[in-house]
This record gives sequence, structure tokens and C-alpha cells, in this order.
Amino acid sequence: MTWFKREKKPIEAPDERRVVTEGLWIKCSGCKEPLWKKDLEGNLQVCPKCSYHYKISAYERINILMDAGWTEHDTTLHSTDPLEFKANKAYKESLASLPKKVGVREAVVNVAGTVEGLPVMLSAMEYNFIGGSMGSVVGEKITRAIERAIENNSALVVVSCSGGARMQEGALSLMQMAKISSALAHLDKKRLPYVSVLTDPTTGGVSASFAMLGDLNIAEPGALIGFAGPRVIEQTIRQKLPDGFQRSEFLLEHGMVDAIVHRKDMKAFIGKSLRWLMT
Ligand SMILES: [Zn+2]
Repeated sequence: MTWFKREKKPIEAPDERRVVTEGLWIKCSGCKEPLWKKDLEGNLQVCPKCSYHYKISAYERINILMDAGWTEHDTTLHSTDPLEFKANKAYKESLASLPKKVGVREAVVNVAGTVEGLPVMLSAMEYNFIGGSMGSVVGEKITRAIERAIENNSALVVVSCSGGARMQEGALSLMQMAKISSALAHLDKKRLPYVSVLTDPTTGGVSASFAMLGDLNIAEPGALIGFAGPRVIEQTIRQKLPDGFQRSEFLLEHGMVDAIVHRKDMKAFIGKSLRWLMT
């Protein structure tokens, strides 16, 4: 028997005392501090240290903004593949697999209900469905929400979270910009309010149409809002862009949005605005 051979097994912590920490913590995209995921969930997916607003799903958004008891509309609409578009992946394949993966049939969810007791039609965009891009079904659903608001004397709230028009549907996507804008003109004639909520990101054909047409355009803090991305603009104008360019705060300073509202205050802010606009 040698002196150096360890005969007993090394001491190990009993199983029940081992704590699995993997996946419970993330590094904040804003302040780079470690963040406990539960803290983030309990704070509407906003960093408690630096107020970085993480993206949330369409249904999370609806539950934050609407009073309980909302009903969903237009659940059967889904995109076809009119151009038989193929890039890295065939558009048809994405359309087939995404509803199960993301839990929505298209990049926008329409609900009817109330916000602080006032009648509202709300369309919330879903970024996880092809970057919240606007194809013909997204255009049709938002148009229907507007028409429903007109029929029911309701206000309209659209929460944008989108990379822009959906390239897989080409010109058909671009036509939605005009279609939605003309429906909004009818809403305006009826003197019903439209509150546009811009979240990170709101770009391309969405920012160039309905997202900027609200009676009130409200942004979440730090959201990227613009038409073309900063890199494309820098290459075109051959100039360095200022810090914070295309962020909510920059847009507020330059008069492009009316207010920046923290996620936890958004419902109260919309309620207050609608009470002022509708009564
Ligand atoms: Zn943070």
C-alpha cells in the first residue's frame, strides 16, 4: 500500500445541495451586469438596474396593456407564398414551421377589449415571426383592426415591433403601407383616436407608414426607430452619424415622437391619453 494513494472517495456535496445555476442568469444587453432571469421576468422584461427594455411577445404585450377579458380576432388568416420565394430557406417552410415554434399564425395579433375601461382595438406585432415583418396578412389584419375600431367606436392602439415590409412577398408587402394608411384616414374622419406605440425595433416600411401616423406616437426607451439602418445611411452620405442616432431619445429631441414611456407606465399613459382624446 502506498502512502499517496487516496483510498477514500473525495468528499462530494450531496445531490440535493447542488444548485443548478446554468440558464438562470444572463448578462444584461444594456449595462452588461449579471441579471437573474426571475428578476427580469418580474419586472416586465426590463432590466431593474439600467431599464434596458427587452423584446416581449405579442401576447405578453397584450396582457400588459389590456384589461382582463379581451378577445382575439382574425385568428384564421395566414400567409400564402405568392412569389414562391426562396432565400436561405424557402418562405413556405418558414410559414409551415413558425406557428408551432412561435405560437402565433402571423406577425401580428389582433384583440378587442378595454384599456382602463375604454374600448380599444389593439394590434400587437410579434418579432419572433420573421422579424415582425409586414406581409399581406399583417397588412390585412391591421386594416381589419382599424375597420373594427370604426364599426365599434373604439380607439386603435398598434404596438409596432418590426424590421419592415416582408421581402418574401415583394410588392404585395409594400402595398400594405398604402392600404393601412388609407384605412387610418377613415378612422381619422370618424374622429377616433389612434395611439401608435413604437418598440425596439420599428424600422423600414412599418416606420414609413402606420407606426408614425398615430395621433400620438409613443416610444419605449432606447428603441431603434428609423427607416434604413445606420450602416446603410453612413455608407450613403459618407458621414459618421451622431451617438444615439435613431434611438427613441434622439427622435424625441428632434420632434419625431411625442413621448417616451417606460413599459411599466405604458398602460396608464395610454389610458390617460385616451380619456383625454375620447371623452
Ligand atoms: Zn441592465
